Amino acid sequence: CGIIAHVGERRAISPLVTGLEKLEYRGYDSAGIAVKNGSGLDVWKCSGQVSDLKETIDGVESSATLGIGHTRWSTHGPPTDENAHPHTNRTNQVAAVHNGIIENYAALKDTLEEKGYEFTSDTDTEVIPNLVSYYLDRGNEPLAAFQHAVDTLEGSYAIAVVIDGNDSIYAARQGSPLVLGVDEDSYFLASDVPAFLDHTKNVVYLEDGDTVEVRADGVDITDEDDVTVRREVETVDWNP
Ligand code: GLU
Repeated sequence: CGIIAHVGERRAISPLVTGLEKLEYRGYDSAGIAVKNGSGLDVWKCSGQVSDLKETIDGVESSATLGIGHTRWSTHGPPTDENAHPHTNRTNQVAAVHNGIIENYAALKDTLEEKGYEFTSDTDTEVIPNLVSYYLDRGNEPLAAFQHAVDTLEGSYAIAVVIDGNDSIYAARQGSPLVLGVDEDSYFLASDVPAFLDHTKNVVYLEDGDTVEVRADGVDITDEDDVTVRREVETVDWNP
């Protein structure tokens, strides 16, 4: 299973889909992407292979430059179109991709459902966009809403989130891999370096407990103690 995200000057869909193809070796049963367009979030996802996803988005013209993608290896809920990632909240304000397992999802889901949040999948992951939405609804700024949501989670995760009307990708890792790719005019997040190696060999290896906000013009990384940190950019010498 794998995560890919792109934000920058160039169009997002092509590097997202290529990134998912490069992550195929990790194994998967479903694939999907979400991009931010001028008027909302667009999501395409399906069970099956990345080639099935490509058929779903065939002919789509999107100038979106910000988006996330996922190949799923299901742990909670069978491999269906509905259980494929990205997952969104009911109003499509927040989309999230996740690798790993949210161990306290059942309790979180109960609490959120009591508060009127609606769920449509069998996954543990679906609590993530709903938690972010919950904290946004309570008046938090996007980064704070994301951080509150992550603080609520127990388990293992690499997560990437996009929020409608916002030009950042928010990401976090705890026990699942996540690396940042630094290109001249764009940034990538991925489960593994090959996902973006066609574009850049400049990599920041994120650490457990890191929270990241990635914009077209820069990156902010906060560590497990909520301290802003700089992490070294390394150049990998792999050949694509
Ligand atoms: N637990 C999540 C699910 O079943 C994510 C699985 C994965 O890492 O792909 O949807």
